[in-house]
Amino acid sequence: MRRKNYEPAEEYSADAYAVGGWGKGIAWYVLGWETEPDEDTEWSGIEERTGNLICVMVGDDKQFSIDPSDVTEIDPESFCRECGQIGCGCCVYS
Ligand SMILES: [Zn+2]
Repeated sequence: MRRKNYEPAEEYSADAYAVGGWGKGIAWYVLGWETEPDEDTEWSGIEERTGNLICVMVGDDKQFSIDPSDVTEIDPESFCRECGQIGCGCCVYS
């Protein structure tokens, strides 16, 4: 599968987020705003934002395109940086 393209999303600077529809037990990282080539990209080199965010589950690298209204910031001390589970205490930064 082609890696998704994205550009930095300064609005999403928190350590981690929860994503609606994926259960409350998993923490996610927001990588940036998803971009896609349009008909001009071949000569302009510029891709257009789709309006979605590219997110990965903590501990995984599979990228998902997520509607920003489903993304909410979570407490950076509430999740495990290894397995990504909210409530797991094995690798929590504080
Ligand atoms: Zn864990």
